[in-house]
Amino acid sequence: VIAGRRIEIRGTVQGVGFRPWVVRLARELGVAGRVRNDAGGVTVEAFGAEGVLESFTRRLRREPPAGADVSDLVWQPLRAEAPAEFAVAPSEQAAERRVAIPPDLAICEACLAELGDPRDRRFGYPFVNCTHCGPRFTIALDVPYDRAATTMAPFRMCERCAREYGEPADRRFHAQPNACPTCGPRLRAEDPAGGAVPGDPIAAAAAALAAGRIVAVKGLGGFHLACDATSEAAVALLRARKRRDAKPFAVMARTLAEAERIAWLGADERRLLASPAAPIVLARRRSGARLAGGVAPESPLVGLLLAYTPLHHLLCAAAGRPLVMTSANLAGEPIACREEDVRARLAGVPDVVLTHDRAIVGPCEDSVARVIGGAPVVMRRSRGWVPRPVPLARPVRRPVLGCGGDFKNAVCLAVGALAYPGPHVGDLDAVEAGEALLESARRLERLVGVRAEVVAHDLHPAFRSAALARGLPAAHHVGVQHHHAHVASAMAEHGLLGPVLGVAYDGTGWGPDGTAWGGEVLLADLDGFERVATWRPVALPGGERAIREVWRAALAALDDAFAGEPPLGALALFAGVAAPRLAAIRRLCDADVACPRARGVGRWFDVFGALGLAMQESRFEGEVATAWSNVADPAARGAYPVAIDFGRAPWEIDPRPALRAAVDDVRRGDGAPAIAARFHRGVVRATIDVVRAAAGRHGRPPVVLTGGCFQNPWLAEGVAEGLAPGFAVHRHRDVPPGDGGIALGQVLVADARTRACA
Ligand SMILES: [Zn+2]
Ligand SMILES: [Zn+2]
Ligand SMILES: [Zn+2]
Repeated sequence: VIAGRRIEIRGTVQGVGFRPWVVRLARELGVAGRVRNDAGGVTVEAFGAEGVLESFTRRLRREPPAGADVSDLVWQPLRAEAPAEFAVAPSEQAAERRVAIPPDLAICEACLAELGDPRDRRFGYPFVNCTHCGPRFTIALDVPYDRAATTMAPFRMCERCAREYGEPADRRFHAQPNACPTCGPRLRAEDPAGGAVPGDPIAAAAAALAAGRIVAVKGLGGFHLACDATSEAAVALLRARKRRDAKPFAVMARTLAEAERIAWLGADERRLLASPAAPIVLARRRSGARLAGGVAPESPLVGLLLAYTPLHHLLCAAAGRPLVMTSANLAGEPIACREEDVRARLAGVPDVVLTHDRAIVGPCEDSVARVIGGAPVVMRRSRGWVPRPVPLARPVRRPVLGCGGDFKNAVCLAVGALAYPGPHVGDLDAVEAGEALLESARRLERLVGVRAEVVAHDLHPAFRSAALARGLPAAHHVGVQHHHAHVASAMAEHGLLGPVLGVAYDGTGWGPDGTAWGGEVLLADLDGFERVATWRPVALPGGERAIREVWRAALAALDDAFAGEPPLGALALFAGVAAPRLAAIRRLCDADVACPRARGVGRWFDVFGALGLAMQESRFEGEVATAWSNVADPAARGAYPVAIDFGRAPWEIDPRPALRAAVDDVRRGDGAPAIAARFHRGVVRATIDVVRAAAGRHGRPPVVLTGGCFQNPWLAEGVAEGLAPGFAVHRHRDVPPGDGGIALGQVLVADARTRACA
């Protein structure tokens, strides 16, 4: 007996080889019918015996192609028909444009095999791709996602490519960037002035790399600057030209085996590296690794990624060594996507430019992830994730745009039950970055097919992101408190509508009282929050300068902890600081001039890290705090006491006793690894105590852990494990805990606050 089913599949199912896979599966099982793309995803009409349809449906749900993400699959019975076979039906031309463009996908096994097969017509072709892999978001000009609406439109497919493109059972059926050496994009090598470099472009680039030179490489979402990762001289040259003093560089390996020779990789790290998203994965570097120390100075970690385009594979193979691959931009500027940008903005940086004629329209930096407590956490959500939406537990009433903050900026656009976080824009200190924020927002609006009616921004009065947001035409502009946005973003990820206890620990965020917040425990829902607890503030003599020159903040904190008489003479941190300098800084504090107070947990990490590591300066954001967490030795015993003042409203978490204990340990000669471990445990314990005390009064709501500090494995694992027995604890996974994730939270808070408006 023949039965029928209409199966509707939602999620990222277009442009990822879903229909050819459905066709192959149907033909394999002897199911007849049709499949088509529609506005919401993919619809299948299937006919066959009931048992066969059941296993067909089950396999549709369980075995989708690697790049697909099935968020929903529902079916209903359909009147039986008896079509001769299973075919692809023309796409529905729905008025609704809300079609999911997939993220860019790393080269698949099958294409990699063709790339290396001398008998294949795409042997050595740097742009081989199929429905399972290749560029997507970065080449999409418009929706629906179709070749004509991508930057592949100017390339007319040759006969053989066109045949693949039109054959439903082919791996290249409707692979929009499908190409071959006859008809597709071409690689070329240029000198810095744009002149052609003769000969094979890959060979020219590889020779330059071997000679210690810098090569700009056009990737999926922009240009990289590459150099030999095993050469100290090459890495130093890149640092000097890029004006990047100390921040770690990412390293690209050709294979997983090569990556394993550089760092210790667990199963989760290997899976992440080899996933279609192919992010940079932070891992612990092996001591004997063949890697220049200058790649990640003084860090036990290294950011690794695998070659993810055919061009990377060819280049890595020809170079025969791991390569530094860092975004091609100067400090603070957005990533360069066009040859003109490389020539103008990066003049003097690369010696050779390896580029091609397939344009990039959506800048997209490499994503960064780390395995924490056995689960991958995305720290920078960009290539490979964007524009995959986050499903919302409660649909937004009107389209909402969140403009993020001024650091690690990324925007987010929500419509209906989906929120689309945009790619990483970066820090907004350069003018170009502000323009990049607006362009990112416009692009999301175009691809999703809506105009935002509500625009959300951070409360900080000096934030450029907030000024830009207020300048956008919209019916409503909503300012959202920074840590509330962090908490709401974690709620969104886990489908929570509140109330929750949100632990938001980060550097600094503007509070509605006009002071800097940063270590906040909030009882929150999407509408608002009650501030349950905060951290004792750290004075910042000289303001922002004290965030760079961390010894200033450390001096102020020590004065606070020791009632003005800390034993500075016994502390290596102050060894090189002249007495008049100390006195001048103290006068700032005493007079309360240019000495703002910040409650950021990150600032306390700076203070303890500066003390324990005798580091006077933080050369880039988070340097001291990261070093402090990396140095902590799990085998060291003990925890420092951190007081909690329950007599205040909000409660105040007070690390002064811990600071006094740490000073004792420094004077006793205990090393940084033990002191750091005791500090981390103290912070974890105090946090657990505060959450327990708050939960007792508020009926044990779920707990979310958010803010940049929860990229620190000690904190994230420690607090989550400590609360686990009695609490539902949620950490970030697919949305960054840091400021790269706040736009999602802004969107939900702004929606909640404007739902009642006409
Ligand atoms: Zn492929
Ligand atoms: Zn072709
Ligand atoms: Zn933040």
